[in-house]
Amino acid sequence: MALVPCKEILNEAMKKGYGVGAYNVNNMEQIQAVMMAAKMTQSPVIIQASRGALKYFDLTYFKYLVKAAVIENPDIPIAIHLDHGNSLELILKALNIGFTSVMIDGSLMEDGKTVSTYEYNVKVTRSVVEYAHSLGVSVEGEIGTLGGLEDNNMGSGSIYITDPQEAKNFVNDTNVDFLAIAIGTSHGAYKFKNVANIDFNTLKKIRSLIDIPIVLHGASSISKDLIYEVNKYGGKVFGTSGMPISLLQKAIKFGVSKINIDTDGRLAVTAAIRKFLIENPEKFDPRDYLGYARTVLSDLIASKMKAFGTLGHANDYVVGK
Ligand SMILES: [Zn+2]
Repeated sequence: MALVPCKEILNEAMKKGYGVGAYNVNNMEQIQAVMMAAKMTQSPVIIQASRGALKYFDLTYFKYLVKAAVIENPDIPIAIHLDHGNSLELILKALNIGFTSVMIDGSLMEDGKTVSTYEYNVKVTRSVVEYAHSLGVSVEGEIGTLGGLEDNNMGSGSIYITDPQEAKNFVNDTNVDFLAIAIGTSHGAYKFKNVANIDFNTLKKIRSLIDIPIVLHGASSISKDLIYEVNKYGGKVFGTSGMPISLLQKAIKFGVSKINIDTDGRLAVTAAIRKFLIENPEKFDPRDYLGYARTVLSDLIASKMKAFGTLGHANDYVVGK
């Protein structure tokens, strides 16, 4: 059994100074691509599903696809993480099907849009922590709000940079295992009007005040090459930019341990399918283009695993215990 609590993976990463990507998945091919990359690079991995993903998959399909990933990859430490849980009801569903880690995002109200108060955030986070910890499941909280729109157009649309002292209080008040902070990254493909930036001063202050792993959301790089590929084959995705790998590597050095990647995966799959169908107009077997997209996505994720320093760290764990 290679399922590991996310906390273990991230504590190890924090100790050794590397980052672990958390890759959002929405179908079987994406799960397979993540696992192919983890196997190729011998990396610990976090597979994460948003509430939109769980709705799309159907819980039972997700449960057994993840089970398959675990059985097929006995040597790779895998954490299954719920991204942006917004209610106790959803968290309970996730725990029921074996998630080893959940995020409760109390920075927004249950509608997933309205910015909440500190008191609300503490209350809802603490109740999830108490229950999840009794099952050995790790919990991610969020303090400060990320801008941009994520799955199902959720998100507040504005950025409130995390206050370092508030981050410290939040960790003490809730007992979360790792903490998502807002330091300039943003959800979705349309991240920045100008140049991407991370508020390293704030990151440094937060790092010095808390002793649990830090999480960076909205960390896709949205490279020009990827956008070029999408648009070359008929796409119309314009005005996008993301977080360059070099900035993410610096953030890892400054103490970020979990890096959430969703948009890059979406773009890679779309670019690959567009390209394949344009170049092979006679083909109509979904295995051809979905298989090609799976390989392209797996290569992209493997390159991130190398860039984040996860390469070879699957062996940090004794799997099967
Ligand atoms: Zn997020």
